Amino acid sequence: MAKTLSRTEFGNPVLRMKARSVTQAFLKTPQFKALEKAMLRTMRSADGVGLAAPQIGLPVRIAVMELHPAKKGGRKKGPLTLVNPRIISYSKERKNDWEGCLSCRGIRGLVPRAKDIIVAYTDTSGKKRTEKASGLWARIFQHEIDHLDGTVYVDRMPDMRHLMTTREYKKRILKL
Ligand code: ZN
Repeated sequence: MAKTLSRTEFGNPVLRMKARSVTQAFLKTPQFKALEKAMLRTMRSADGVGLAAPQIGLPVRIAVMELHPAKKGGRKKGPLTLVNPRIISYSKERKNDWEGCLSCRGIRGLVPRAKDIIVAYTDTSGKKRTEKASGLWARIFQHEIDHLDGTVYVDRMPDMRHLMTTREYKKRILKL
């Protein structure tokens, strides 16, 4: 069984670096397979919906994503592994929603993101793919791909007064 990896947190310079592209040759190595497995396991054990390689200390352009039906009432999506992803088109329409990050536990912020995107990436077999995404799934793409460019979600917040602790978020927004 793959181990979970220790996570980097806000303040770690690796989260501010532009991650480097992954070669096709690396995708064929057992190291890549092991890394992918460990990233998925780390994301799931932290109850996250996405994890980018800089969040486990590696400045390379790899991210994993997975959405369970229980999360915000959406359909199950993924698991999906992105290699060298880039967003090639953003809808003009934007939507505000709350985001958290596995690199900054205990905090949530209101972030505007494009409602729909088209993303291009390489899959784990080395094949180039293009995918349309909307809503929460599109938001996760944008959040994770930002990590590969050294951007964290708080950078995208137009109003820092909409930053709150998870405890207040649960009380005020989720009304739990
Ligand atoms: Zn994050």
